[in-house]
Amino acid sequence: MSLHTLTIKELRNKLTAKEISPKDIVESLVKRIDSVDGKIKGYLRVNAKDAFAQAEKADISKPLGGIPIAIKDNIAVSDEGCTCSSKLLENYVSPYDATVIRKLKEAGAVLLGRTNLDEFAMGSSTENSAFGRTHNPWNLDCIPGGSSGGSAAVVAADEAIAALGTDTGGSIRQPAALCGCVGLKPTYGRVSRYGAVAFASSLDQIGPFTKTVEDSALVMNVISGYDQMENTSRPVDVPDFTKSLNAGIKGLRIGIPKEYFIDGMDKEVQTAVKKAIDWYAANGAEIIDVSLPNTEHAISVYYIVATAEASANLARFDGVRYGRRSPDGTDSINSYSKTREQGFGSEVKRRIILGTYVLSSGYYDAYYNRAQKVRQLLRRDFTEAFKKCDVILTPTSPTAAFKAGEKSDPLSMYLADIFTIAVNLAEVCGISIPCGFTSTNLPIGLQLIGSHFDEPRLLLAAHGYEQGHDWFKKKPSL
Ligand code: GLN
Repeated sequence: MSLHTLTIKELRNKLTAKEISPKDIVESLVKRIDSVDGKIKGYLRVNAKDAFAQAEKADISKPLGGIPIAIKDNIAVSDEGCTCSSKLLENYVSPYDATVIRKLKEAGAVLLGRTNLDEFAMGSSTENSAFGRTHNPWNLDCIPGGSSGGSAAVVAADEAIAALGTDTGGSIRQPAALCGCVGLKPTYGRVSRYGAVAFASSLDQIGPFTKTVEDSALVMNVISGYDQMENTSRPVDVPDFTKSLNAGIKGLRIGIPKEYFIDGMDKEVQTAVKKAIDWYAANGAEIIDVSLPNTEHAISVYYIVATAEASANLARFDGVRYGRRSPDGTDSINSYSKTREQGFGSEVKRRIILGTYVLSSGYYDAYYNRAQKVRQLLRRDFTEAFKKCDVILTPTSPTAAFKAGEKSDPLSMYLADIFTIAVNLAEVCGISIPCGFTSTNLPIGLQLIGSHFDEPRLLLAAHGYEQGHDWFKKKPSL
């Protein structure tokens, strides 16, 4: 039986019916990983032995009992590496569990292995990993998106049942779109960031990659909730996210922002997304024109706010407290500098330099302060739009997966996130779901955006679409 191809829901049914054991699932996945991950390279490390031991003990009466999950390698798991795909943290071992990991363990999940990412989650293609690039399961010459490209690729290639990623400007939704799976970025504050290596603390969120929307709800049920260890976590009730899934999309007000249907967007992406809008209309949803007028500033604002925060957050990697220290330092200052010069890759250095510049005393008001003001305007755009509609629908990415090496200048890479970044700046929630394929058989993703803490309606809208289509059943041939 190909257990690795099944969803959380399907496996849970088989487990409770005692048709299979958690060990059978791990066995099926380990075989699958052995046969395809040499081509995909989604995993940095697979803990097969440990996964079998966890499966042996897994309590299947728990919400994720016996379900193997892959973890992006920037989320701390006690006594395991957490490289952030950086040479600097190559030999670092986490002394504690991130809150999401503690919750997964308490829910009976089996932690299967660690997935590749752009170094410190900076990138949109997983080409910035110090440990080699990940390949898109639908076309090995293409990138899987990023920065959580490893997590998206292993779920799409049936090498994990689900995975966790982080999303600062699109890093869950964009790779989910490019690999053809479901990726959810929760509302800022919904899921604790404690134990996720900080990139831009006012934007980062952890969220799930799954094969279906229902599975996304199942993982959200486990990882969400207030955490006293994390001061941006919000004391908001956690509903059962599966409850509202089947409420139906009749009467749902779907906003279409005109600023998101731009020149330069790939024609096949545009056609697929327009078809999805027509489908919603034909099935009883109300389609409403909305405007998010400050969208054009989102990328500029993001690359000021995110780099400023990154430059502060990454200051701690100096060779003293974490990870590797350069052996070449002649005194302490020289040792910090050599460690950082040798440990960080070029994209990370670019961000640190940009961020230090926008925070420097002469430029702080001109850049950082101004960006914060425009961020307020972006937030207001969404608040206004959500007075008129329940969810907003856009493409996730302006193109399908591109070839590795194709976007060599940083700006063209930054523009790949044009549709996802404003969601983080406004701190609302967003999901990417498959909505078709290009003529060259690459997945296309649809983004739905929900208001603050309105994941229930977001999931309902996504689930409704999923039920009416069978994109979800298509698998890459590997
Ligand atoms: N691609 C964006 C960046 O490079 C977003 C990354 C992310 O969400 N972690 O900053």
